Amino acid sequence: KFISLEGGEGSGKTTAILFIQQWLDKQNINYLMTREPGGTPLAEEIRQLILTPREERVNDVAELLLVFAARAQHLAQKIQPALARGTWVVSDRFLDSSYVYQGHARGGDIAMLDHLADWVVGESKPDATLVLDVPVELGLQRVAERKHADRLDKESNDFHQKVRQGFLDRAATEPERVKVIDASLSLEEVQQQIEAQLVALQQS
Ligand code: C5P
Ligand code: MG
Repeated sequence: KFISLEGGEGSGKTTAILFIQQWLDKQNINYLMTREPGGTPLAEEIRQLILTPREERVNDVAELLLVFAARAQHLAQKIQPALARGTWVVSDRFLDSSYVYQGHARGGDIAMLDHLADWVVGESKPDATLVLDVPVELGLQRVAERKHADRLDKESNDFHQKVRQGFLDRAATEPERVKVIDASLSLEEVQQQIEAQLVALQQS
């Protein structure tokens, strides 16, 4: 099975992934944790290209293509081989982040993203995508306390609102695959929602 975790700033992805890891350990399931952009040495280099703050403005089309280039590498080198041997794959971000960041938030053409998704990802979409949804103000409040700088730190409130709405749109477009977790609740309640999705996936 292939699971992706998605969400905006401060949605609690890292904590959720740790919880998923513990759950998989308890079930004795073989799994591989990975992330996007990145997941292989080449794809991690592309991640650095995209996220490192620099003087030259990153062109939106260039960014979109770089993210998909990294994804093609990640799928071929890591995700598809793991799934083929029956290993579960858990990815911190995947395709839906492209729809949301490069599409909804930066204005990329959704029809073009659909083409790229068909071409690059094809049948290798996640079996389940968990979107951790929090109001933008709460998310930004949570990240204010930590964090290494990346290029996206300078984005506006409006950008983050588009990100949140983008993920909710993804869930509305593919409700079978993309599940919204209310991540504004307590840690325990968030974990209960995640566990319910994991159990459903295990039984499917
Ligand atoms: O830790 P996190 O996954 O949030 O860090 C990844 C960074 O890359 C975030 O700033 C995220 O918004 C950005 N990103 C992006 N486009 C993607 C995936 C991630 O801009 N497709
Ligand atoms: Mg994180």
